[in-house]
This record gives sequence, structure tokens and C-alpha cells, in this order.
Amino acid sequence: MSSKVAAFMEHVIAKNPGEKEFHQAVQEVVESLMPYLDKHPIYSEHKILERIVEPERLLMFRIPWVDDKGEIQVNRGFRIEMNSAIGPYKGGMRFHPTVNLGILKFLAFEQVFKNALTTLPMGGGKGGSDFDPKGKSDLEVMRFCQALMSELFRHIGPDTDVPAGDIGVGGREIGFMFGQYKKLRNEFTGVLTGKGLKWGGSLIRPEATGYGSVYFAQEMLSTRSETLKDKVCLVSGSGNVSQYTVEKILDFGGKPVTLSDSNGYIYDEAGIDREKLKFVMDLKNVRRGRMKEYSDKYKTAVYTPIDPKMDCNPLWNHKAHCAFPSATQNEINGKDAENLMKNGVYMVSEGSNMPSTPDAVKIYIDKKILYGPGKAANAGGVATSGLEMSQNSLRLSWPREEVDQRLHGIMKAIHSQCVEYGKEGNFVNYVNGANIAGFVKVADSMLAQGVV
Ligand code: NDP
Repeated sequence: MSSKVAAFMEHVIAKNPGEKEFHQAVQEVVESLMPYLDKHPIYSEHKILERIVEPERLLMFRIPWVDDKGEIQVNRGFRIEMNSAIGPYKGGMRFHPTVNLGILKFLAFEQVFKNALTTLPMGGGKGGSDFDPKGKSDLEVMRFCQALMSELFRHIGPDTDVPAGDIGVGGREIGFMFGQYKKLRNEFTGVLTGKGLKWGGSLIRPEATGYGSVYFAQEMLSTRSETLKDKVCLVSGSGNVSQYTVEKILDFGGKPVTLSDSNGYIYDEAGIDREKLKFVMDLKNVRRGRMKEYSDKYKTAVYTPIDPKMDCNPLWNHKAHCAFPSATQNEINGKDAENLMKNGVYMVSEGSNMPSTPDAVKIYIDKKILYGPGKAANAGGVATSGLEMSQNSLRLSWPREEVDQRLHGIMKAIHSQCVEYGKEGNFVNYVNGANIAGFVKVADSMLAQGVV
């Protein structure tokens, strides 16, 4: 780490104690940016870096609600309004027991750069709660979402802050939050994205993050005149992003062989085909069951439960060409990255946010593999949210093909920006490319708008 980066990180760590995921995300960006900032001193003169790591506004609130037994439960709600230089705050809501301020600040910070890369006018934000939807009845989830929105509604709006889904927040939760917002405000607006198709949602939004991550993979492979056809692919998670990643890999003729949840993973040597994917979608989205059931049904698959004592995740230790981490942050550590390389993986496209630890990223860059970091590779979700906002403003719905084409075009544009800013001889450093390209758009807008 250079002395300039170390000094800056000292300041960030002192101001944000204990928020280790936030420190990690900031450090990665600042390491990429420092050489660029040295060449363009105007950004340092105007303290853009110091301003961009400070949220514009941070909300933290109590969410009391009543469970099915009549007992009062108390959760904590958050919304980080990180940066609005290029548009309204935009970013998902996460419901997971691990949610805390540091995790949401890392996600909001990443979102600023990601949203800038999409070419659409969206600022960065993120929010959520330590509420765990697992094991809760639909009525409990509804009462919780209503209680959350009873506070959040006064801070958001279609031109101010537009939340969406993330881990633990899918169509059901967006519906309950939207209903409560509409009731409290007495207006029907595009205040949330990921809405149902019959009430303002966009075609392709559910598919967008997974499809986008695979489109980005295709773009990276095309720089080596390759495609996904016949490539063996490791995919983690089994939620929204993972399901549509598998679907698009199949569309391109690849062979997905793994999926996981927080209890364990399946390895299906025969490949996860469309019929098996349909089973997973029903298992996860309707029956809300566990991945273990996959291996009970399909004998070609082996289920391995998570062993918290292990220093690596065996999901990343199978022969393959490509990896699509799509579960959560820091799911690939240095040892996992070494295992990936040893097993022949030379393309990693991140569906989840910051799934690779700094050790893992260093290995990818040293080995010069095709590595698409989350803020570029998974930007298709928020990009399609941006398209949902456009349709809501126009009061129109575009057909499936049109949204998919726009999504594909945006993923190609993100790839080109990464190449423009990240080319190092014959190698594309997509980390530097994404960080610098995203930064320049936001920073120039901040310069133009003065010290606010
Ligand atoms: P879902 O809630 O639909 O699925 C999350 C999946 O990851 C589940 O299989 C879940 O397992 C697993 N998981 C979650 N936390 C952990 C953990 N701590 N350890 C192991 N497994 C875990 O979420 P999404 O698919 O929407 O999101 C997945 C990732 O993609 C996140 O990093 C999110 O930020 C990112 N992302 C999502 C976007 C979207 O549009 N949805 C957009 C851009 C990025 P279990 O069922 O056991 O909880």
C-alpha cells in the first residue's frame, strides 16, 4: 500500500471505527484511484475523495412490529443516502441478520460507482434491516415491511431516493413496502423498483442482475475470442442472482455445476439443466426450502454441508473454466482463489457485491485472469431498475425484448468503459477500469455543483 493510500485509510478508519467491510471497499477504490488522482490534481484540490467517502445522509431507526404470537419484536432499520451528484439515491434494501452500518455503507459506497457506470442518471444509496425473513410467515413479513415503511416513507421518493431489493428482499417484500408507501403518501409513483409487472414493474428486472453478469462474462471472454459455450461454470448462492445466472449460462451453451445456500452446496457433475433449475426456482421462491433437497431429488448431485471450521469453501475447489460468485460478500478468500486457479478457472464474473477478499483479488490480478468485479459485472440489476424508473416516468411498459436489448447494450458499455480506463498493455485490469470510470463521472459532477 502506498503511503498516500495508508494515510487516507488511517483517516477513514478513525472516522468509521469497526466498519471493516466499508474500510475494505474504500481501500480497493482508493488504491485504484491514487495514480489517476496524482495525474489530475483538481480532484484532490477540491477534496473529492474526502467528500465521496462521507454519506450525504445516514438514517437509522427503530422498527417495532408484532409477530404471530402477539409478541412485540424490535429490529433496526437503515438507509444510507451516499451520493446524489448524478441522480436520486438508488440502491437495494437488504434484510439479513448480519446487516449492520458497516456492511450497508460498503454497499452504498460501491453503488455510487456502479450506478455511474450504468450510463444512467442514478446516485448511490443502500439500506436494510437486521430482520431475518427466514422462518417468518407471510403475515409477519408484511407487518415488518409496513412497520419499516412507516418511518422510511418520509425520507424517500421517486425524485429523491428509490430503493429496490437485495438479499432477503424480493417481489413479496417490495410489494408490502410499496403498498404501505402508497397508503401513507396517497400517491402511486415509481418510488421502489423490482415491482410486480401488473403494478409498475419492468419486464426483465428479476432476471437482470444474473443475465447482466453473464453478458459481462461474454464480453470479457470475447476479448480472447472465446464464448461461454461448453464452459463448466461454478455458481454460488441459489437466490435471485444465482438462478438467472444459471439460466443465461444455459442460454449461451455453458454448463453450471454448483449452487449453494447458507447451509451448504450441491455439486452436480451432470450439469444443472433447465428442468433442475425449475426445481430450484420452486424450492427457493415458492417453498422457501434448502439446497439439500436438490441432492435428495437428483442423484447426480452431491451435497456438502458448510463446515465453519474449514479455512476455505469447497464449492470453489472443482474443475471448471468460469466462476460466478452470486451469494454474498467475502465468499472467496485467498485460499479459495488459489483453488480456483489450480482447477483451471480463468474467468470470474461477480454477481454478488465484493465476494472476493483483497487476497483473492490480488491473485486474480497477478495471474492476469479475466476478472469482472461486482460493481461492473452485477450492474445490470440496478441498470434495469433505472429502466423501470424511466418507464414509470413515461407511464409506459417496454416489451421484454426491448428491455433485454437495452440491458445487453448497457453491459457492453460498462465493459468498454472498464477497457478504456483499465487497459495495461495486453491486459485489462477491470478493477481499476471500473473504479476510475465510475469515479470520473461522479467527481466531475461534484466539481460542477460546488461545495455542497
Ligand atoms: P437472495 O436473497 O435472493 O439470495 C441470496 C443467496 O445467497 C441465498 O442463496 C442465500 O442463502 C445466500 N447467502 C446469503 N447470505 C449468505 C451468507 N452469509 N453465507 C452464505 N450464503 C449466503 O439475494 P440476491 O440473489 O438478490 O443477492 C445475492 C448477491 O447479489 C448479494 O451480494 C447482493 O448484494 C448482490 N446483488 C443483487 C442484486 C439484485 O438485483 N438482487 C443486484 C446487484 C447485486 P440462504 O437462502 O441460506 O440465505
